[in-house]
Amino acid sequence: MSSVVEPTTTAARPSGLEDRSFFGHPRGLSTLFFTEMWERFSFYGMRAFLILYMVHALGFDDRHAGSVYGTYTASVWAAAIFGGIIADRWLGQYKSVLIGGIIIALGHFTLAFHALPAFYAGLGLIVLGTGLLKPNVSGIVGSLYETNDARRDAGFSIFYMGINLGAALGPLIAGYLAQRVDWHVGFACAGVGMTAGLIQYVLGRRRLQPAVERLERQRREARAAAERERASATTKPTEPTFWGFTTVEWKRLGAMVVFFVFAAVFWGAYEQAGSTLNLFGDRFTRTSILAFSFPSSWFPSVQAIFVIVLSPAFAWLWIRLGKLEPSTPTKFAFGLLFTGLSFVLLLIPAFHIQDSPGIRVSPFWLIGCYFIQELGELCISPVGLSVFTKLSPVKIVGSMLGLWFLADAVGNKVAGYAAGFISSAPLPQLFGVVAGVCIGASLIAFLLIKPVRGLMGGVH
Ligand code: GLN
Repeated sequence: MSSVVEPTTTAARPSGLEDRSFFGHPRGLSTLFFTEMWERFSFYGMRAFLILYMVHALGFDDRHAGSVYGTYTASVWAAAIFGGIIADRWLGQYKSVLIGGIIIALGHFTLAFHALPAFYAGLGLIVLGTGLLKPNVSGIVGSLYETNDARRDAGFSIFYMGINLGAALGPLIAGYLAQRVDWHVGFACAGVGMTAGLIQYVLGRRRLQPAVERLERQRREARAAAERERASATTKPTEPTFWGFTTVEWKRLGAMVVFFVFAAVFWGAYEQAGSTLNLFGDRFTRTSILAFSFPSSWFPSVQAIFVIVLSPAFAWLWIRLGKLEPSTPTKFAFGLLFTGLSFVLLLIPAFHIQDSPGIRVSPFWLIGCYFIQELGELCISPVGLSVFTKLSPVKIVGSMLGLWFLADAVGNKVAGYAAGFISSAPLPQLFGVVAGVCIGASLIAFLLIKPVRGLMGGVH
């Protein structure tokens, strides 16, 4: 403050660095918060009734509906792998989010038409648009901050709240319209939500300028560093490598493969909220509490509400535990255990339904199941994303995040496949298999804690 002349370096102008106008965070975070909130509103709003629409309105049998559901949701996550690459190579992050959002909105509006070709075209557009938008909107959040900015993690937590706020509201509003008014009004509502997100994204574009410029700069610097590394590699002897990676890097890649497998099992169970458990809610659950009746597509919103409620508790818990905070492999093992237990809970109503066909069980079984599942999600989803960014060798971090999305894709396809059994296998057997796989995977994960920590080579 008291110094007379500040040296003017390139970083002298605080390009957003000092901006604390949104709860202590750069203003651009509010723009991205609402863009992603509306995008998730449209995505989860439509996902909440997609399989119901297929079985009730399109007349698909469970197996076919489950398969289409699985292929669609798996493709959404797989497309995200390419969305990151397209932004890096050609479009840049700002435009990728904009164009992605426009394609998503068009997709939902296409679904508002009745014809079957419109149905598939709409799903295809949402896949393309989400692939373009989803990885890049998070990318811009990251670059609102300099790499060493202490507010960064908190920024991502706020952003995660936006995601789940949208995921909570979407089913409540679009799901209600779809099931109580008209399916196609539900789809259109998702499109309107995405449009609202786009409008405020464009209006807020100036707030994103510093982040977009920082991204450009980081990309240029990374390219220059890669050049320098290549030049010096020819002159000075380096650590021995195999296929360009050191032993330490290979070990870390090994740890990531283990996390990938466990994450795929986890998402395979968790994503059944949109498939198997959605049909379970629709067919076997009372959709009323006291005198209040609600559409079954409201159930998936419970997941997101629990994320919002439990996230601060988890953040507090990890800080409170300090040095005792469990390692990432331990959190993964607990995450799988909770997810397995959530399906164990469902065995009780499942046996009940098997014994007295035609009855509908209390909605609190599903709500309880989602509560336990969320304890699992919070041990895996945010933790996994962060550990992938830390474990990956710098030059392939984009591809490794792609691998993380791929776990989602695999899990979603499995979740759709599982839904196909809801009418052909006894419910206790179906839920029992899911519970067994998760608990089995969790036991293996507990056994692997030590070796995986060894592979991680000191990364926490
Ligand atoms: N609920 C989070 C989101 O929608 C994460 C979901 C996931 O990775 N499958 O972004």
